Amino acid sequence: MSRYWSSLVHRLTPYVPGEQPRLANLVKLNTNENPYPPSPRVAAAIAAELRAGGESLRLYPDPNADRVKEAVARFHAVHRIEPQQVFVGNGSDEVLAHVFLALLKHDLPILFPDITYSFYPVYCGLYEIDHVTVPLDANFAIRIEDYAAANGGIIFPNPNAPTGCLLSLVAIERLLQLHRQSVLVVDEAYIDFGGESAIALVGRHANLLVVHTLSKSRSLAGLRVGYAVGQKHLIEALERVKNSFNSYPLDRLAIAGAVAAIDDREHFERTRQAVIRSRDELSGSLQTLGFAVLPSAANFLFARHPQRDAAELAAALRQRGIIVRHFKLPRVDQHLRITVGNSAQCEALLAALREILD
Ligand SMILES: *Cc1c(COP(=O)(O)O)cnc(C)c1O
Repeated sequence: MSRYWSSLVHRLTPYVPGEQPRLANLVKLNTNENPYPPSPRVAAAIAAELRAGGESLRLYPDPNADRVKEAVARFHAVHRIEPQQVFVGNGSDEVLAHVFLALLKHDLPILFPDITYSFYPVYCGLYEIDHVTVPLDANFAIRIEDYAAANGGIIFPNPNAPTGCLLSLVAIERLLQLHRQSVLVVDEAYIDFGGESAIALVGRHANLLVVHTLSKSRSLAGLRVGYAVGQKHLIEALERVKNSFNSYPLDRLAIAGAVAAIDDREHFERTRQAVIRSRDELSGSLQTLGFAVLPSAANFLFARHPQRDAAELAAALRQRGIIVRHFKLPRVDQHLRITVGNSAQCEALLAALREILD
């Protein structure tokens, strides 16, 4: 605290990201990164951008990152998405920040689940947006009937985080029809691991915005690229906020790498299928060890052991060099969120758990 702080800064409760330990050799299953490397085309594209000693870095990048918007439109071409229906940002966290200010700050409170991505209440604090949390049902599912209240907007991840539970496109379309007066934001950070994207509904719904990231299914958490897809009037609101904040959110290397990653469909398919296979195997093995595991459509599992305290399990895993995420929050403080690793990492996790539970 300092007398030099603004009153807003005194009131902020910032987001706490999962830890990025410096120790090598840890089995890091705590922040839902992809265990596989990104497409080899990413490093090649970045190296090409850096040719001639990085001469191009002398110049500002394209403020609109048009090549990325075109690549996103190409990728979603079956849904007739045009580059003008795409907004890009420095990670989807930045895209979401602009979404809160541009599309979710109204007189009525916005709605999101009680158990969800913990950055949403942080943005509400930053931008002074009222919000009401809507409890997930007893099975940790979103019930759209519970979102009947008048609202300034609705946002949730699909699949939800940290539960991994998926809401159907039919339910999302019902919600869009019930709330034509406000924007529904579907944060699809994990959709490539098992769901159908709501981008299919963008053409039919003026109040739908879908947010994606290259951090999870494209293995590029370190490059910081995210995007949103929606009808032009929504994208225009985001561009207005972005151009009132930072004209160049994507640097030249990020633009080159993002385009290469989005265009490599073969690598994307292969690695996401590998994660899906490992997830389903790991879920089965955890259940064999006595865990209750929620059905996951994401690259992580949300699991609870009926006889063991979750914080103690997390600590015991940590002693064995394995880090998972534990949230000290109501309703879920007996759960662990475990990122799906590669086969060796999943094996190491299971071996450690067998030892701990023995
Ligand atoms: C990981 C994640 C994000 C943020 O992704 P970045 O693009 O890395 O900023 C957004 N929403 C949810 C639900 C996430 O899990």
